[in-house]
Amino acid sequence: MSKKIKITLDPGHGEFGNPYPYTKGYFEGTQMWKLAGFLKTELEKRGFEVVTTRPRIIDNPTVDNRGRLAGQNDSVLMLSLHSNATADITQTSVTGSEVFLSVRGREHKSLAEKLLASVCRVMNHNSRGVKERTLDGNPNNDFFGVIRNAANNGCTCAMLMEHGFHTNPNDAQFLTVDSNLRRLAEAEADVIAKHFGVIIETPPYKLTTADARNILRHVAGIETLTLEQVKLYDFNKDRTITTAHALRILRIVAGLDPDAPSSAPTLKVGDRVMIKEAYAGSAFDAVARSTAMIGAERFITEIRTEKGVNFALRLGMKQGDKSTANTTGFAKARGVEKI
Ligand SMILES: [Zn+2]
Repeated sequence: MSKKIKITLDPGHGEFGNPYPYTKGYFEGTQMWKLAGFLKTELEKRGFEVVTTRPRIIDNPTVDNRGRLAGQNDSVLMLSLHSNATADITQTSVTGSEVFLSVRGREHKSLAEKLLASVCRVMNHNSRGVKERTLDGNPNNDFFGVIRNAANNGCTCAMLMEHGFHTNPNDAQFLTVDSNLRRLAEAEADVIAKHFGVIIETPPYKLTTADARNILRHVAGIETLTLEQVKLYDFNKDRTITTAHALRILRIVAGLDPDAPSSAPTLKVGDRVMIKEAYAGSAFDAVARSTAMIGAERFITEIRTEKGVNFALRLGMKQGDKSTANTTGFAKARGVEKI
């Protein structure tokens, strides 16, 4: 059984925290709690374990305790969800999203940038950038208690995302619509899943020869996969399994990739290999593609998760088939180790 990567979500404030000052019905603490729920669902679909600081809408722990929770439960990311407000609430035209990243987590800036870009794209407004804010002039101390306590307890990938301004009528209106919050959740979950490279399926599942044949037919463009099949085979979670993708990876499999390690072991048909998860979907496509090209009855008998970050892939080939070039090349593909 694989160990899941853990993420802590922190819906800011309490249930009735920070009402929209002009229109009844918007509370930052309520809408961010809803957003956290949608995001939790989307992240769990993508294979993460998610902890929230407010399991119930009425929960309202201190910011220190929220941050501390992320450090104590070994989360790889603590994401605090907020909407912004201008100090002078008559400034209703101010809009845009921004993210505050822990000063102790600067190596995670690319994730913060990608998350921010996804939010700005969905909310269709400008980015105010990835920012840092410190306390009392101490450059190593975060201003915001939630990210300060997360970082101080070991979760330095701690960030506070401001989703627009609830003092802006357009932003506030956007954030009151559940379907918009779902779109935000999907976009943010996609970024997080791509960044951490998590694969969905656990516990392990088996692929049969019939499954492999289906994929081949799909790669060859003669069969449309069902949604369920796409979900199963789309290991990199981009919702597509394309021929172009397979062709690109075929070059790696064929040993034509200059980045492939020269020390890669030589494989025999039937060997088991470990594939670093970042390459697993690609390798799978490539196997299917190369099977079509050499016309051999090679089949995949097993793909399963290992430690949450690796796949084991067993290759088989019909007896008497002399085409072993692709399995040899396969060993040279990046991220492949013989086990
Ligand atoms: Zn807030």
